[in-house]
Amino acid sequence: VSSRGCHKIRGSQIRELLDSKLNVLFDCDGVIWNGETVVAGAPEVVTLLKQQGKKVFFITNNCTRPRASYVTKFIRLGFTDVAEEEIFSSAYCSAAYLRDVAKLQGKVYVIGCQGVVKELREAGVPIVEEDTNAPTGTIYDYPLDPEVKAVLVGYDEKFDFIKLAKACCYLQNTECLFLATDPDPWHPLRGGRITPGSGSLTAAVETASSRKATVIGKPSCFMFECIASQFNLDPGQSLMVGDRLETDILFGANCGLDTMLTLTGVSTLEEAHGYKDSDDPERKDFVPDYVVETIADFIEAYEE
Ligand code: PLP
Ligand code: CA
Repeated sequence: VSSRGCHKIRGSQIRELLDSKLNVLFDCDGVIWNGETVVAGAPEVVTLLKQQGKKVFFITNNCTRPRASYVTKFIRLGFTDVAEEEIFSSAYCSAAYLRDVAKLQGKVYVIGCQGVVKELREAGVPIVEEDTNAPTGTIYDYPLDPEVKAVLVGYDEKFDFIKLAKACCYLQNTECLFLATDPDPWHPLRGGRITPGSGSLTAAVETASSRKATVIGKPSCFMFECIASQFNLDPGQSLMVGDRLETDILFGANCGLDTMLTLTGVSTLEEAHGYKDSDDPERKDFVPDYVVETIADFIEAYEE
Protein backbone atom coordinates (compact mmCIF):
# COMPACT_ATOMS: atom_id res chain seq x y z
CA VAL A 1 0.00 0.00 0.00
CA SER A 2 1.54 3.29 -1.07
CA SER A 3 1.20 5.95 1.59
CA ARG A 4 -0.70 8.91 0.28
CA GLY A 5 1.40 11.98 0.54
CA CYS A 6 -0.80 15.05 0.96
CA HIS A 7 1.93 16.86 -1.02
CA LYS A 8 1.30 20.55 -1.60
CA ILE A 9 2.45 21.09 -5.17
CA ARG A 10 2.77 23.99 -7.60
CA GLY A 11 4.37 25.08 -10.86
CA SER A 12 6.52 22.42 -12.49
CA GLN A 13 5.35 19.73 -10.03
CA ILE A 14 1.77 20.21 -11.21
CA ARG A 15 3.01 20.12 -14.80
CA GLU A 16 4.86 16.86 -14.19
CA LEU A 17 1.80 15.26 -12.61
CA LEU A 18 -0.54 16.36 -15.41
CA ASP A 19 1.94 15.22 -18.05
CA SER A 20 1.70 11.72 -16.56
CA LYS A 21 -2.12 11.59 -16.90
CA LEU A 22 -4.53 11.31 -19.81
CA ASN A 23 -7.74 12.02 -17.93
CA VAL A 24 -8.68 14.68 -15.41
CA LEU A 25 -11.88 14.21 -13.40
CA PHE A 26 -13.19 17.32 -11.68
CA ASP A 27 -15.72 17.41 -8.90
CA CYS A 28 -17.91 20.51 -9.51
CA ASP A 29 -19.02 22.39 -6.39
CA GLY A 30 -15.98 23.66 -4.48
CA VAL A 31 -13.64 22.95 -7.41
CA ILE A 32 -15.13 24.45 -10.59
CA TRP A 33 -17.65 26.72 -8.94
CA ASN A 34 -19.14 27.59 -5.57
CA GLY A 35 -22.91 27.67 -6.08
CA GLU A 36 -23.41 30.25 -8.83
CA THR A 37 -19.89 31.73 -8.58
CA VAL A 38 -17.20 30.36 -10.87
CA VAL A 39 -13.78 29.57 -9.33
CA ALA A 40 -11.53 32.18 -10.93
CA GLY A 41 -9.53 30.69 -13.81
CA ALA A 42 -11.52 27.42 -14.00
CA PRO A 43 -12.77 27.96 -17.60
CA GLU A 44 -9.19 28.64 -18.76
CA VAL A 45 -7.95 25.51 -16.96
CA VAL A 46 -10.49 23.30 -18.73
CA THR A 47 -9.56 24.76 -22.12
CA LEU A 48 -5.85 24.43 -21.38
CA LEU A 49 -6.16 20.76 -20.40
CA LYS A 50 -8.15 20.01 -23.54
CA GLN A 51 -5.51 21.77 -25.64
CA GLN A 52 -2.97 19.46 -24.01
CA GLY A 53 -5.01 16.53 -25.30
CA LYS A 54 -6.48 15.52 -21.95
CA LYS A 55 -9.94 14.07 -21.57
CA VAL A 56 -11.79 16.14 -18.98
CA PHE A 57 -14.83 14.97 -17.02
CA PHE A 58 -17.09 16.56 -14.42
CA ILE A 59 -18.52 14.38 -11.68
CA THR A 60 -20.98 15.85 -9.26
CA ASN A 61 -23.07 14.42 -6.43
CA ASN A 62 -25.55 17.22 -7.04
CA CYS A 63 -28.69 15.53 -8.36
CA THR A 64 -30.85 18.64 -8.65
CA ARG A 65 -30.22 19.32 -12.37
CA PRO A 66 -30.43 17.15 -15.46
CA ARG A 67 -27.31 17.07 -17.66
CA ALA A 68 -28.67 19.60 -20.17
CA SER A 69 -29.11 22.12 -17.38
CA TYR A 70 -25.46 21.64 -16.33
CA VAL A 71 -24.42 22.52 -19.89
CA THR A 72 -26.33 25.79 -19.55
CA LYS A 73 -24.70 26.45 -16.19
CA PHE A 74 -21.20 25.88 -17.59
CA ILE A 75 -21.92 28.35 -20.41
CA ARG A 76 -23.41 30.90 -18.00
CA LEU A 77 -20.26 30.74 -15.87
CA GLY A 78 -17.94 31.32 -18.85
CA PHE A 79 -16.98 27.82 -20.02
CA THR A 80 -16.92 27.54 -23.81
CA ASP A 81 -15.99 23.92 -24.41
CA VAL A 82 -17.86 21.61 -22.02
CA ALA A 83 -20.04 18.93 -23.64
CA GLU A 84 -23.02 17.17 -22.10
CA GLU A 85 -21.25 13.79 -22.57
CA GLU A 86 -18.49 14.93 -20.18
CA ILE A 87 -20.89 15.61 -17.30
CA PHE A 88 -21.71 12.78 -14.90
CA SER A 89 -24.14 13.63 -12.12
CA SER A 90 -25.49 11.34 -9.41
CA ALA A 91 -28.94 11.73 -11.03
CA TYR A 92 -27.70 10.67 -14.48
CA CYS A 93 -25.73 7.74 -13.01
CA SER A 94 -28.67 6.61 -10.84
CA ALA A 95 -30.83 6.40 -13.96
CA ALA A 96 -28.06 4.52 -15.79
CA TYR A 97 -27.76 2.10 -12.86
CA LEU A 98 -31.48 1.34 -12.76
CA ARG A 99 -31.64 0.85 -16.54
CA ASP A 100 -28.34 -0.94 -17.26
CA VAL A 101 -27.26 -2.67 -14.04
CA ALA A 102 -30.46 -3.40 -12.12
CA LYS A 103 -32.45 -3.73 -15.39
CA LEU A 104 -35.44 -2.68 -13.34
CA GLN A 105 -38.75 -4.33 -14.21
CA GLY A 106 -41.18 -2.04 -12.45
CA LYS A 107 -41.43 1.52 -11.18
CA VAL A 108 -39.22 3.71 -9.01
CA TYR A 109 -40.51 5.63 -6.02
CA VAL A 110 -38.47 8.83 -6.00
CA ILE A 111 -37.68 11.06 -3.08
CA GLY A 112 -35.84 13.77 -4.98
CA CYS A 113 -36.11 16.68 -7.32
CA GLN A 114 -36.48 17.59 -10.98
CA GLY A 115 -32.93 16.55 -11.86
CA VAL A 116 -33.59 12.98 -10.76
CA VAL A 117 -37.06 12.79 -12.31
CA LYS A 118 -35.84 14.16 -15.67
CA GLU A 119 -32.87 11.80 -15.89
CA LEU A 120 -35.07 8.79 -15.07
CA ARG A 121 -37.56 9.83 -17.75
CA GLU A 122 -34.76 10.35 -20.26
CA ALA A 123 -33.44 6.85 -19.51
CA GLY A 124 -36.94 5.42 -19.93
CA VAL A 125 -37.14 4.25 -16.30
CA PRO A 126 -40.78 4.37 -15.10
CA ILE A 127 -41.49 6.34 -11.95
CA VAL A 128 -44.49 6.63 -9.66
CA GLU A 129 -46.30 9.76 -10.80
CA GLU A 130 -47.67 11.47 -7.72
CA ASP A 131 -50.82 13.53 -8.05
CA THR A 132 -49.52 16.73 -6.53
CA ASN A 133 -53.03 18.20 -6.27
CA ALA A 134 -54.43 15.28 -4.29
CA PRO A 135 -54.55 15.64 -0.53
CA THR A 136 -51.51 13.79 0.82
CA GLY A 137 -53.63 11.72 3.18
CA THR A 138 -52.74 10.20 6.52
CA ILE A 139 -50.38 7.36 7.25
CA TYR A 140 -53.39 5.02 6.99
CA ASP A 141 -54.82 5.95 3.61
CA TYR A 142 -52.15 7.25 1.18
CA PRO A 143 -51.99 5.22 -2.02
CA LEU A 144 -49.15 2.73 -2.60
CA ASP A 145 -48.27 1.54 -6.10
CA PRO A 146 -47.88 -2.27 -6.31
CA GLU A 147 -45.53 -1.92 -9.30
CA VAL A 148 -42.79 -0.18 -7.29
CA LYS A 149 -39.56 -2.22 -7.40
CA ALA A 150 -37.07 0.46 -6.30
CA VAL A 151 -36.82 3.44 -3.95
CA LEU A 152 -34.37 6.18 -4.93
CA VAL A 153 -33.52 8.90 -2.41
CA GLY A 154 -31.88 12.18 -3.47
CA TYR A 155 -31.94 15.83 -2.45
CA ASP A 156 -35.52 16.87 -1.77
CA GLU A 157 -36.46 20.24 -0.29
CA LYS A 158 -40.05 18.97 -0.03
CA PHE A 159 -39.11 15.85 1.99
CA ASP A 160 -41.86 15.10 4.49
CA PHE A 161 -43.27 12.46 6.83
CA ILE A 162 -45.60 10.91 4.24
CA LYS A 163 -42.72 10.44 1.76
CA LEU A 164 -40.68 8.80 4.50
CA ALA A 165 -43.65 6.58 5.39
CA LYS A 166 -44.21 5.54 1.75
CA ALA A 167 -40.53 4.77 1.21
CA CYS A 168 -40.34 2.50 4.23
CA CYS A 169 -43.57 0.72 3.25
CA TYR A 170 -42.14 -0.04 -0.20
CA LEU A 171 -38.87 -1.18 1.38
CA GLN A 172 -40.65 -3.76 3.53
CA ASN A 173 -40.55 -5.84 0.37
CA THR A 174 -36.98 -7.20 0.46
CA GLU A 175 -36.99 -7.44 -3.36
CA CYS A 176 -37.49 -3.69 -3.60
CA LEU A 177 -34.13 -2.02 -4.39
CA PHE A 178 -32.97 0.82 -2.16
CA LEU A 179 -30.71 3.40 -3.83
CA ALA A 180 -29.31 6.76 -2.77
CA THR A 181 -28.01 9.34 -5.24
CA ASP A 182 -25.23 10.39 -2.84
CA PRO A 183 -24.25 10.25 0.84
CA ASP A 184 -23.46 13.96 1.27
CA PRO A 185 -24.38 15.07 4.82
CA TRP A 186 -24.71 18.83 4.14
CA HIS A 187 -23.64 21.55 1.74
CA PRO A 188 -22.39 25.07 2.27
CA LEU A 189 -24.70 27.91 1.28
CA ARG A 190 -23.92 31.60 0.94
CA GLY A 191 -23.49 33.59 4.15
CA GLY A 192 -22.13 30.71 6.21
CA ARG A 193 -25.35 28.69 6.27
CA ILE A 194 -25.56 25.03 5.37
CA THR A 195 -28.33 22.89 3.87
CA PRO A 196 -28.91 19.20 4.69
CA GLY A 197 -27.69 16.90 1.89
CA SER A 198 -29.31 13.77 0.44
CA GLY A 199 -27.33 11.66 2.90
CA SER A 200 -29.35 13.04 5.80
CA LEU A 201 -32.63 12.08 4.09
CA THR A 202 -31.29 8.63 3.20
CA ALA A 203 -30.33 8.16 6.85
CA ALA A 204 -33.96 8.78 7.86
CA VAL A 205 -35.20 6.20 5.34
CA GLU A 206 -32.51 3.72 6.44
CA THR A 207 -33.59 4.03 10.06
CA ALA A 208 -37.30 3.74 9.27
CA SER A 209 -36.82 0.72 6.99
CA SER A 210 -33.97 -1.04 8.86
CA ARG A 211 -32.19 -1.29 5.51
CA LYS A 212 -29.01 0.16 3.98
CA ALA A 213 -29.09 2.07 0.71
CA THR A 214 -26.76 1.33 -2.21
CA VAL A 215 -24.98 4.61 -2.91
CA ILE A 216 -24.57 5.58 -6.58
CA GLY A 217 -22.61 8.86 -6.26
CA LYS A 218 -19.11 9.46 -4.89
CA PRO A 219 -17.42 7.75 -3.02
CA SER A 220 -18.97 4.69 -4.71
CA CYS A 221 -17.06 3.48 -7.78
CA PHE A 222 -20.17 3.28 -9.92
CA MET A 223 -19.71 6.80 -11.27
CA PHE A 224 -16.20 5.93 -12.44
CA GLU A 225 -17.46 2.69 -13.99
CA CYS A 226 -20.15 4.69 -15.74
CA ILE A 227 -17.52 7.03 -17.29
CA ALA A 228 -15.07 4.21 -17.97
CA SER A 229 -17.69 2.17 -19.80
CA GLN A 230 -18.34 5.06 -22.19
CA PHE A 231 -14.80 6.39 -22.61
CA ASN A 232 -12.62 3.38 -21.85
CA LEU A 233 -10.60 5.07 -19.07
CA ASP A 234 -7.59 3.54 -17.37
CA PRO A 235 -7.63 4.41 -13.63
CA GLY A 236 -3.84 4.65 -13.57
CA GLN A 237 -3.96 7.38 -16.23
CA SER A 238 -6.59 9.39 -14.39
CA LEU A 239 -6.48 12.14 -11.76
CA MET A 240 -9.43 12.95 -9.48
CA VAL A 241 -9.60 16.56 -8.30
CA GLY A 242 -12.02 17.32 -5.45
CA ASP A 243 -12.69 19.52 -2.43
CA ARG A 244 -14.24 17.01 -0.01
CA LEU A 245 -12.04 14.35 1.55
CA GLU A 246 -14.87 12.00 2.59
CA THR A 247 -16.44 11.83 -0.87
CA ASP A 248 -14.10 12.96 -3.67
CA ILE A 249 -10.78 11.79 -2.27
CA LEU A 250 -12.24 8.52 -0.97
CA PHE A 251 -13.85 8.02 -4.40
CA GLY A 252 -10.45 8.39 -6.05
CA ALA A 253 -8.88 5.96 -3.58
CA ASN A 254 -11.74 3.45 -4.08
CA CYS A 255 -11.33 3.57 -7.86
CA GLY A 256 -7.51 3.44 -7.96
CA LEU A 257 -7.04 7.04 -9.14
CA ASP A 258 -4.42 9.54 -8.04
CA THR A 259 -6.14 12.24 -6.02
CA MET A 260 -5.78 15.98 -5.59
CA LEU A 261 -7.44 18.15 -2.95
CA THR A 262 -8.13 21.75 -3.91
CA LEU A 263 -8.65 24.22 -1.09
CA THR A 264 -11.47 26.28 -2.69
CA GLY A 265 -14.24 24.17 -1.11
CA VAL A 266 -15.30 22.24 1.98
CA SER A 267 -12.21 20.41 3.33
CA THR A 268 -9.07 22.02 4.76
CA LEU A 269 -5.40 21.12 4.67
CA GLU A 270 -5.57 20.64 8.47
CA GLU A 271 -8.30 17.99 8.05
CA ALA A 272 -6.22 16.21 5.41
CA HIS A 273 -3.21 16.16 7.76
CA GLY A 274 -5.50 14.99 10.58
CA TYR A 275 -6.45 11.93 8.52
CA LYS A 276 -2.82 11.38 7.52
CA ASP A 277 -1.66 11.42 11.16
CA SER A 278 -4.54 9.23 12.34
CA ASP A 279 -3.85 5.68 13.55
CA ASP A 280 -7.05 4.39 11.93
CA PRO A 281 -6.02 2.68 8.67
CA GLU A 282 -9.47 3.32 7.14
CA ARG A 283 -8.86 7.05 7.35
CA LYS A 284 -5.82 6.80 5.08
CA ASP A 285 -8.16 6.66 2.09
CA PHE A 286 -9.29 10.20 2.93
CA VAL A 287 -5.73 11.49 2.45
CA PRO A 288 -5.12 13.07 -0.96
CA ASP A 289 -1.93 12.38 -2.91
CA TYR A 290 -1.60 16.07 -3.80
CA VAL A 291 -2.93 19.41 -2.64
CA VAL A 292 -3.29 22.72 -4.52
CA GLU A 293 -4.71 26.06 -3.38
CA THR A 294 -6.95 26.25 -6.44
CA ILE A 295 -7.12 24.61 -9.85
CA ALA A 296 -6.15 28.02 -11.25
CA ASP A 297 -2.62 26.99 -10.19
CA PHE A 298 -2.66 24.72 -13.27
CA ILE A 299 -2.35 27.84 -15.47
CA GLU A 300 1.09 28.89 -14.23
CA ALA A 301 2.20 25.25 -14.44
CA TYR A 302 1.88 25.52 -18.22
CA GLU A 303 3.42 29.00 -18.41
CA GLU A 304 6.79 27.98 -17.01
N1 PLP B 1 -26.01 17.92 -3.74
C1 PLP B 1 -26.52 19.15 -3.59
C2 PLP B 1 -27.99 19.33 -3.41
C3 PLP B 1 -25.66 20.27 -3.60
O1 PLP B 1 -26.17 21.50 -3.44
C4 PLP B 1 -24.26 20.06 -3.78
C5 PLP B 1 -23.34 21.18 -3.80
O2 PLP B 1 -23.71 22.34 -3.93
C6 PLP B 1 -23.79 18.76 -3.93
C7 PLP B 1 -24.69 17.72 -3.90
C8 PLP B 1 -22.34 18.44 -4.09
O3 PLP B 1 -21.92 18.66 -5.41
P1 PLP B 1 -20.44 18.28 -5.84
O4 PLP B 1 -20.34 16.80 -5.84
O5 PLP B 1 -20.34 18.90 -7.23
O6 PLP B 1 -19.53 18.94 -4.87
CA1 CA C 1 -17.54 19.22 -4.07
